[in-house]
Formats: sequence, structure tokens, C-alpha cells
Amino acid sequence: MKPFAYTRAHTVWDAVAAVSAEPGARYLAGGTEMVNLVREGQESPDRLVDIGDLPLTEVRVHGRGVRIGALAKRVHEHPEVRRRLPVLAEAGLSAASPQVRNVATPGGNLLQRTRCHYFRDVRFPCNRREPGTGCAALRGVNRNNAIFGGSEHCVAVHPSDIAVALTALDAVVHTHGPAGERVIPVEELYRLPGDEPNRETVLDHGELIVAIDVPPTPFAARSHYLKLRDRASFAFALVSVAVALDVRAGVTHDVRIALGGVAPRPWRARAAEDALRGRRFDDDARAAAGEAATTGAKPLPHNEFKVELVRRAVVRALSEVEGR
Ligand SMILES: Cc1cc2nc3c(=O)[nH]c(=O)nc-3n(C[C@H](O)[C@H](O)[C@H](O)COP(=O)(O)OP(=O)(O)OC[C@H]3O[C@@H](n4cnc5c(N)ncnc54)[C@H](O)[C@@H]3O)c2cc1C
Repeated sequence: MKPFAYTRAHTVWDAVAAVSAEPGARYLAGGTEMVNLVREGQESPDRLVDIGDLPLTEVRVHGRGVRIGALAKRVHEHPEVRRRLPVLAEAGLSAASPQVRNVATPGGNLLQRTRCHYFRDVRFPCNRREPGTGCAALRGVNRNNAIFGGSEHCVAVHPSDIAVALTALDAVVHTHGPAGERVIPVEELYRLPGDEPNRETVLDHGELIVAIDVPPTPFAARSHYLKLRDRASFAFALVSVAVALDVRAGVTHDVRIALGGVAPRPWRARAAEDALRGRRFDDDARAAAGEAATTGAKPLPHNEFKVELVRRAVVRALSEVEGR
């Protein structure tokens, strides 16, 4: 492991200045991802700037929704999050293990890197880790990889559960960076790999996520996160579905659906939403939404099963939320 310097930042601006000033500097929040990346060799920073002391830990309900500090811990346990945003509480609770959840932060969760085996195992070529080396997943075991949004250079999926829930909830991140402050929809935070898979997000070097805002969607209280995986706990999603639903007199007035485990970023299933809106919320409509959610899927040799899993998971998540 390459030696690196360590700095503790005491203000947001100290942190931004410290990372922006040095191309090899990176933020360290809970460290549950970064420390592993450094230890295993996917990252080799010159400096880690610890942001753990910054006052970004609050979860607050206000007129414009719920604001979640980038360093808030165990957000899924917050009573207002559980009451107003069950899909987010369920996504948070489904992630990792109690030990990891005690330390991990929402900002770090959104910016964790892919769990593609070929990215994580530095013996294999990976365009995301080392541009121009190739994508071992395309010809290797690609069971866990993308069925949407991949390219001939990368077919990794984004592993964050809360990013999927936040995408369904139309949440935004607030950032402070060397060029000032920005507000970015979570859905637009991530870039598709194209021919530059190493550029994973739209953030500039040194840009710090300070908070996540979830707007006041009234029907967010009727929402659900369904995560399908090989093990019932402590495993990443093969397919996940975040749904929020507004049914009035048996007709779908509004709906949000996002998928996880299937694309290099959380995948908003707008065709599935369109298949439901304005229609009776019955078995046929749910099946049509499941079918529509697979629109544009391009499975790899080992993950054709994800297409059927998406179809069924969408139907199941919608049926589950109806009963709430
Ligand atoms: C064994 C294991 C199982 C896991 N299972 C799941 C799972 O099922 N689902 C899931 O969603 N996640 C899972 N995770 C991932 C876990 O949720 C993340 O490791 C954690 O959320 C990262 O948060 P952190 O605060 O520790 O981030 P760190 O490790 O400190 O940082 C992660 C990255 O984010 C950057 N960063 C951190 N905060 C900010 C910020 N505010 N602004 C800008 N950049 C920032 C860092 O520079 C780094 O690149 C698992 C992790 C482990 C170790």
C-alpha cells in the first residue's frame, strides 16, 4: 500500500480547499468503503481528508421536505424518515450489516464504487479502475452485471441501495466545490460509462456532498423498497425496486419506480410509471408495468435472468405497496 497523508477538516471550506488543492487527495467519511479501496489497491490517494468532524449530521423536516446531512448516521432509524419515506428507511436498513451501518454515511454510500468482481480484483483488467485496460466482465462471469446502460467498455452496476430510493423520490444532493455550490438530482449524479467508465459521477474534483434533500411528495409515505439478492442479508442487490404510489378510487394517480442492481446508476423506470398512470390499479396494469420496466434491457450471457427478475420484482413491489 502506498503511504498517504491524513488531514482532519474542521469546516466545509477547509475540506473543499484541502481536496481541491491536490489531485491525489480524497475525502474520508465513515471509511467503510475508502479504507477497503486503499487496502485492496483500487485507490491509492496521496492524502485522505477526514470530514468526520463536519457539522453535516442532522436529519431535518422542513417546508420543502426532508434534509439529510451528508454525514448523518443510521438515517433509516430516524422516526420521520420511517414515517414519511418508508422506501428510504427500508433501503437503508437493507444495506450492509449493522456494524457497517453504524459507521457509514449517506454521502459515502452514494459515492461508493461498483462491486463488479473485476473492478474489485486488481489482477483483472478494468476500464473503470485503469482506463484503456479492457473490461474483463464482458467475457468473464457477468451474472451480477448490468442489463441497462452498459457499454462495450464497462457493464458494472452501481451498488447503492439508498441511491435507488432517492432516485424514486426525486431527491437532490447539495454540494460545495471549488466552483461554488450546486444542486444535482440524484438521478443525474452518475454518468453512464460510455467510453469513459472511470468518470463515474458529474462531480468535480474536490466537490463535497453536504446534504441530500427529499422533496415533499405526499405519496412518499406509501412507498416500498424490495431488494432481491442471493442471501437474505449482508448482500448487494441482484435486482431492487423502489416504488412510491398514489392510487385514488382504484386508479393510479401518480407513481415513481426506480430499479437497482441492473445499471451503472439507479435506473428510473419511466416506461413502467407511464404504463400505470391514469389506469385502474389491477393485476393487468401491474403486469404491464413489469413488462415496461424491462424496456431496452440488453442482458449479458450470464444475466438474462435479471430481465425476468425485474418483471416480477416490479409486480411484487407494487402489490406490496398497495396494501399499505
Ligand atoms: C461488507 C460491506 C457490505 C456492504 N453492503 C452494502 C449494501 O448492501 N448496500 C449498499 O448500499 N451499500 C453497501 N455497502 C457499502 C456501504 O454502504 C458504504 O461502504 C458506505 O455507505 C460508505 O460510506 P462511508 O461514510 O463509510 O464512505 P467512505 O468510505 O468514507 O467514502 C466512500 C467514498 O465517498 C467519498 N465521500 C464520502 N463522503 C463524501 C462526501 N460527503 N462528499 C464527497 N465525497 C464523499 C469518499 O472520498 C470515497 O470515495 C457495503 C459495504 C461493506 C463494507
